Amino acid sequence: MSFDLKPHRLSGTIQHYAWGAKGEQALIARLLKITPENDKPYAELWIGAHPKAPSHLIYQGKSYSLDTILSKYPRLVLGEEVVDKFGITLPFLLKILSAQEPLSIQVHPDKQQARLLNQYDPQNYPDSNHKPEIALVLDELECLAGFRPANELRMLLSDYPAIASVLSGHEFIDISDDRQFVRELWQHSLTTFQNQPLIIDQTLKDLARQQNNDSAIDDANVQFFLQMQRQGHAPDFGLLLILFLQYWHLYKSDALFIPAGVLHAYIRGNIVECMTNSDNVIRAGLTTKFKDYQALATVTNPEAQPSIVLPRIHNGKKTYQIAAEEFRLAEIELNEKKYLTINRGEVRIILVLEGEIRISWAGGEELYTSGESILLPAALDKVKISTKHSARFCMVEVEGN
Ligand SMILES: [Zn+2]
Repeated sequence: MSFDLKPHRLSGTIQHYAWGAKGEQALIARLLKITPENDKPYAELWIGAHPKAPSHLIYQGKSYSLDTILSKYPRLVLGEEVVDKFGITLPFLLKILSAQEPLSIQVHPDKQQARLLNQYDPQNYPDSNHKPEIALVLDELECLAGFRPANELRMLLSDYPAIASVLSGHEFIDISDDRQFVRELWQHSLTTFQNQPLIIDQTLKDLARQQNNDSAIDDANVQFFLQMQRQGHAPDFGLLLILFLQYWHLYKSDALFIPAGVLHAYIRGNIVECMTNSDNVIRAGLTTKFKDYQALATVTNPEAQPSIVLPRIHNGKKTYQIAAEEFRLAEIELNEKKYLTINRGEVRIILVLEGEIRISWAGGEELYTSGESILLPAALDKVKISTKHSARFCMVEVEGN
């Protein structure tokens, strides 16, 4: 078969993880115009070529997975520079993430750590790639990410003798250097609580007792902690971590970048998420899945912080630039007067969020509506994207090309 140089519709894979949105809340079902099945969670939509769930495209009447197409036509689809730099693989993975319940608290390794984890424990770490990620908020997002500032953590320990007393054998509470204090708090928490469900359980009970007696302690972290307890969440290191991590409440078009080493958990909301082509996760808590304390100790960097990414705005295109060469996420708003042109060079993936776009190229034109995702092959030249009314879409390109 010879490859047809045109935009190709991609069909993504829905992941029905337990924390996903259900029923009327299920944004992914709404975008894809499917009726959500009763009580079935619609957590993530994956668009890309990750071996766990590659997207498919219809070509000459047959369905092919994107990675099959990439291996047959790497330079036409990915582009010369992308193949030379990253090999025959799509360097990024695009998702819609729709959370009704909290995800596990997790951290992602850097490139070198990812290679080592894969080498020593391929069963738990089948992926040898790092996973920096950016969350672009579609409506609202509540999440935990990065440790709270040292002064807040010191206050927390003085407000909660239950935690301080378990950790009290350690002198770090008096450390005046902020960075060292946070580092030591993390290390001592890890050694005190890892694989110690009884200690965790006792500490949580003491905390709950104190909170019942002391309604004065009232911040977003404590509210979330109490909510998880009321729901009968099993004793878990993650419940304590809720109190240590920074609580973020973000709104439409805000973007949060989470680099390697930052502990984080999305709690509720809808986002477009873009990351390197990786599913490399080390879990710390709020989950019954495998928790690897040794990897947590190595990979977590309590000083690393997420960052709000302010877009560079040009002609209705907002580009969210981050420190990862594998991808660059952009959000584009068009109206009947505004259009976007794209020339040959590198692979791009588009996901229509609102309205309808028209893509025209030398060989034709086609309409795409919200929820559809489209592969623009690198060798496709002189593409014009426009709309009759108004439309919003996001586009992923490879950084640095
Ligand atoms: Zn993550």
